[in-house]
Amino acid sequence: MLPGQKNLNQTMLDANQLASLQEAIAAYTPLQLAWTSGYLAAKSEGGSVAALPTATAGASAQVQAALTILFSSQTGNAKGVAKKLAESAKAAGITVNLKNVSEYKPKSLKSETHLLIVTSTNGEGEAPDDAIEFHEFLASKKAPKLPTLKYSVLSLGDSSYEFYCQTGKDFDERLKALGATAVSPRVDCDVDYEEDAQSWSVHIIDTLKEELTQSGDAGVAPVAGLTGSVEVESQYTKQTPYAAELLVSQKITGRDSAKDVRHVEIDLGESGLTYQVGDALGVWFENSTALVEELIAVLKLSADENVSIKGENFTLSQALTSELEITQTAPAFIEFWASISGDAKLKALVEDKNAAREYSAEHQIVDIVSAAPSDVAAQVFVDALRKITPRLYSIASSQTEVEEEVHLTVGLVSYEENGVTRFGGASGFLTNDAEEGATVKVFVEHNDNFRLPADGNTPVIMVGPGTGVAPFRAFMQERDAAEAEGDNWMFFGDQTFTQDFLYQVEWQGYLKSGLLTKMDVAFSRDQAEKVYVQDRIKENAKEVFEWLERGAHLYICGDANRMAKDVHNTLVDVIASQGGLTPEQAEDYLKSLRSNKRYQKDVY
Ligand code: NDP
Repeated sequence: MLPGQKNLNQTMLDANQLASLQEAIAAYTPLQLAWTSGYLAAKSEGGSVAALPTATAGASAQVQAALTILFSSQTGNAKGVAKKLAESAKAAGITVNLKNVSEYKPKSLKSETHLLIVTSTNGEGEAPDDAIEFHEFLASKKAPKLPTLKYSVLSLGDSSYEFYCQTGKDFDERLKALGATAVSPRVDCDVDYEEDAQSWSVHIIDTLKEELTQSGDAGVAPVAGLTGSVEVESQYTKQTPYAAELLVSQKITGRDSAKDVRHVEIDLGESGLTYQVGDALGVWFENSTALVEELIAVLKLSADENVSIKGENFTLSQALTSELEITQTAPAFIEFWASISGDAKLKALVEDKNAAREYSAEHQIVDIVSAAPSDVAAQVFVDALRKITPRLYSIASSQTEVEEEVHLTVGLVSYEENGVTRFGGASGFLTNDAEEGATVKVFVEHNDNFRLPADGNTPVIMVGPGTGVAPFRAFMQERDAAEAEGDNWMFFGDQTFTQDFLYQVEWQGYLKSGLLTKMDVAFSRDQAEKVYVQDRIKENAKEVFEWLERGAHLYICGDANRMAKDVHNTLVDVIASQGGLTPEQAEDYLKSLRSNKRYQKDVY
């Protein structure tokens, strides 16, 4: 490693460069900092900066952004859309202020004239973590009247969930209620959001271009940087992934475990792809050949038949292997197959949305069509399927330790249906189908909402049962390499000690070396009564609270539906009892940790 390279992920500058930069900007006002950030962004893009105005009195009006774009993102998709939108706006000559909503002061809303929001939604219709405060502010009495604001909302979601695109709907409704005018109606996008997002973006820029470039100051200040994030853009993206090599896919649960969890290592080779601990890896996958053949046989179609998807031609077999989702389904497919087959059971499901959602969560396409066989034209069938989407896995390694590799902890999703075992799309591909040496198409999904504290002396508490352990393995590698001196406390849980203690040897090594200060484990099925990580947190209530009081950052990773909620509720109890607070005050305590980026979740 080169001298000064250790903190590459955090600063990209060596210590001397960083010190001179800090000295140079020490006396700058916030406005001057904003101008400088734009100046540097333009310079890094190779644009001519000679024409940029100097910071004279008149320039302050010029750096005032005409258009504010806010994004809130659970997985990075909304951020990706917002960044592209900001670039198009800039190219159209509009001055843009692009921000993660958690970095935006909601009170500034009253001085905005034009606002675009791109947001995702959490599983049960809640705002993503980074948007919780903005969401609460808009719904509260504190929200100002916004009679002069023009806005539009793009919401990303998954139509198989009951509260589809709810956060976007909430923002739209509240802005309207506060008197703002929608310059273009809200657009709700499903899992394959790219095309809808692109046409909304094009339309909105066309609509705003004229009025926002009239003043003559447009385009002067480039897009503001994203506070707190140092991202190196890669040529390899979700749309243009890197064809990496699968090095290792090793089972790390015991022979008698109820689960098959793999430690996966992927070689990023010469790609130049970089990631920070806390990021996720996007993995494109192919559906298994056996499953595709079974589906084509059940449909009584021919593998070689030609079909077209958005104007591109494929054989049916190719389309079902690499273009279309066949392991996950949604109520819309049940509705489609009910109408094709006329099956009474499916028709009944169509009438009961919750039942349809549950049924689609537990059945793959092949199970649905096998249970109600019917003739269908290949093209009609293909038109009813969703485009395949990559899966995101929390990265389980630090590049300071593994350099051009990336490690994942993959739980094989599997279940029995009529005596046949069905596997998850990407987890099946990574564990059953792709042999070591196979090509895996990947990209890095940055996640600024799950970051180690910048100061290595800050203590961290990590709660990661099951595959939720992954990012904490990365955290430990990073803190080890950085020789960070802050305390580290890990809460891990799984079914049994002997079969499911993921990375047990590594944790023991870290305990021995002293890097890991404390580890508490909860093996739920090693005794008659279930014991979970939150029980361990409760048993250690006093010390957990002490750690928080001395500035610890708190992280949760793993199951979103049950575990993360139960752990949150336990934390509320612990903070209330130890801090002598009411439950509401304890919630506020956690809220303030969250807004100070000291309480972060990566849950799925
Ligand atoms: P799990 O979270 O299923 O299990 C880990 C440990 O947590 C087990 O000991 C389990 O106990 C325990 N547990 C169960 N309920 C709770 C609870 N309410 N609070 C705290 N602990 C609890 O680990 P996995 O690695 O198998 O999976 C992680 C999670 O990730 C899954 O639960 C699933 O929700 C999610 N997941 C999501 C996928 C997706 O595509 N969205 C794919 C794969 C997993 P016990 O089982 O004995 O009750």
